[in-house]
Formats: sequence, C-alpha cells, structure tokens
Amino acid sequence: MTATKTLIADSQRYIANTYSRYPLILVRGQGCKVWTNDGKEYFDFVAGLAVCNLGHCHPKVVQAIQDQSRKLIHVSNFYHIEPQIELAKLLCENSFADRVFFCNSGAEANEAAMKLAKKYAKDTGRTERFEIITMEKSFHGRTMATITATGQEKFHKGFDPLVPGYKYVPFNDMEAVLRAVTPNTCAIMVEPIQGEGGVNCPSDGYLRELRELCRKRGILLIYDEVQVGMGRTGKLFAYEHEGVYPDIMTLAKSLAGGVPIGAMLATEEVAKSFGPGTHASTFGGNPLATAAGVAAVSTLLEDGVLENCRRVGEHFFNRLMDLKGEYPFIKEVRGRGLIIGMELEFEGSQIVTRCMEEGFLINCTMGNVLRFLPPLIVTTKEVDQLLGALDRILGECKEGTES
Ligand SMILES: *Cc1c(COP(=O)(O)O)cnc(C)c1O
Repeated sequence: MTATKTLIADSQRYIANTYSRYPLILVRGQGCKVWTNDGKEYFDFVAGLAVCNLGHCHPKVVQAIQDQSRKLIHVSNFYHIEPQIELAKLLCENSFADRVFFCNSGAEANEAAMKLAKKYAKDTGRTERFEIITMEKSFHGRTMATITATGQEKFHKGFDPLVPGYKYVPFNDMEAVLRAVTPNTCAIMVEPIQGEGGVNCPSDGYLRELRELCRKRGILLIYDEVQVGMGRTGKLFAYEHEGVYPDIMTLAKSLAGGVPIGAMLATEEVAKSFGPGTHASTFGGNPLATAAGVAAVSTLLEDGVLENCRRVGEHFFNRLMDLKGEYPFIKEVRGRGLIIGMELEFEGSQIVTRCMEEGFLINCTMGNVLRFLPPLIVTTKEVDQLLGALDRILGECKEGTES
C-alpha cells in the first residue's frame, strides 16, 4: 500500500466515524492554497468552513502563536490573562458589546448565550421565562442544547430526549415569530445569515422587526455570528449591514485565525447575570488562543481585508449571477461578501468532486446549495480561476441534462 492509503486506512480504523471525508490528506497551507501529503495543490474555497478568513498560516497569526507559546501557553482563569484582556477590549470597542465570555467553540458560545438568557430572565424576576425561539434551517452546534436549538430534524434524530423549551419558526417569517412568542419566551436566537441552512439572507427589515418585538416584550435577541462574523460578509459583524444590535452575540470559527476559540459577547445589562461561579471554561480565553485572536482581529481591521472581501465578493456574486443566466438549473445565488450560496435543482456533491479534480475545494450544504467560503484575502484572479472551472463543469451538467 502507498503511504497515503495506509494513513487513510488508519484514519478509518482509529478515528470515530462521524465525518464522511474526501480522500485527501492536507498537510500544508498558505494564503488561499493548501497542499496534500503527495504534493497536490488546491485552491481552498472552504477555508476550514469559514475559519481561515485571513488565509492559511497568516504570518501575523503564526508570529503571535510563536511568541506566545514561548511565554505562556496556559494558566487558569483564577488569574488575569494579558492577551485575553486585549482581545476582549478589541471586540467590545468594535461591537455593540460591553463584555465577553471566552470558550472554545461555536457550540459552547451558544450554550453560554442560552444559559445567560435564562439566568437573566430569573435575575430580572421573570421566573416563568425559559423558552427560546430559533429558526428552521438554523445551525447552532452539536451539544445537546445546541442540537435542540438547531431547527433541523436531521440533527435531532437518535438523541431524544432533547432539551425542553425550544420552539422553531421559519426564517424571515415575522408572523410566525409573533405566534410563537408566549409569556414564557426568554430569547430569540437567529443567524443574521444562515450558513449551514443554505446561505439564507434576512429579508429587508426582518432583523429590525425582531429587535422591535424583543424590546417591547423584554425578550433577549441573540445573534449567532459564529459563521458570518469576523468579516465574512464584508463588515466585521454581519449585523452591521442593518445596524440592528442584539443583546447577546456568539463568535467562534475564524476569531483566532484557525486556533480553536469561542466567544459570547453581551451588553453590560445582560452580562451582569454572569457573576463569579455562574459559568466557566478551563481553556476559555487561554493565552495561546487569545494571542492568536488579537493578531487575527487586528489584522482584519487594519489590513484592508474587509475592503477586499466586499470588492471581490461583489465580483464573485455578479459572475455567479452570469452563470445563473447561462444555466437554467441554477435556481438562486445568495449571499453577502464572501459567503455565497448557489442553489441547484439537483444534488451538488458531484460538482464538488469535479471541482476537486480540477484543483478547487468547495462545499455543498443542504444537499443542493454549493457554498463558497474562500479566505477574505482571495483575489479577483483566483475567483476567476474557480469560475472558469465551474463554468466548464456546469457545462458538462447541461450536456448531461440535454442528452
Ligand atoms: C459552525 C457553527 C456553529 C458550531 O460551531 P462549533 O465550533 O462547531 O461548535 C454554531 N453556529 C453556527 C452558525 C455555525 O456555523
């Protein structure tokens, strides 16, 4: 057997079988490119699922990890941690939020958000409030509470009983939210753009109406920006496009340039319900992760990355719309900045495989939505290279449907 085959056999032998993986072993990355163990090069339009927003191994992130790892890798949150303070300050100064709780993943950030929402209801005397309204086609993580919050049955199957107190409504349907709200509602949680659910954007005024409803009824509004935060949409946070603030927001994925991290941000009013002993995480806000976070966030803010995301994203979107004009089996192109979905009339997995054969990594979600999540530093030229390959591959599909 070749070395690659042996490694893949060991992978399949020893690792829990929770992922269906492509037969590639990725060993190196730089910018928008990754390489396999046998030297094959790919353009990466997956970017670790919206994690590597600055591209692979961004020099400033690498430097920060190297420097911090020589100084201090971990200490307990019994003590103050320099880069943790710095990252919290950066996030608060550039968002609606006053305080940050650090953890290690998106699911954990959402757990923290939902715990805080329940605690806040109790602390403000509304002891009957515990229900959380979330959206159909949402995705909030894989822990028990976050699969329950996720409005997709396929993630619930086999894990009964789920956590009590969740209600689901269709995304972009204000009437449904109004019907679902009861005196027991403590929070509404929504992704400002649904990622896993197929890149679904909010309709005009939807977030504002949610905000208004929450304000009137004393309900907390939680944004899950785990996927669309940190510049993905061309602004640091997706909510900035509408200028509608939440009470709580969650971040993870690209927050530390690829190092595992999660964060829950909240206003002072709400955050005060998290006093000493109410919530914790051993690794949360760890020196190494937050040092990488400081490097990632400051690079995002200083180096014209957001500008590039908007500019290249617009070009990408327009060219995908051109393809839609050309191929009638493309149902819709949706997105903002560099999270773009292209919905097809058929399963997209074959197109993902064909793109891989041509040297491009792309993703498909919900079965038929091709999802493009390149690093935000991607160039127009690199996007055009993918589009050229995609055009050829879609052309093959057209021939397939015609014959
Ligand atoms: C990826 C994702 C999560 C879960 O994050 P993990 O780090 O995998 O726990 C939660 N919400 C959204 C919107 C996501 O895209």
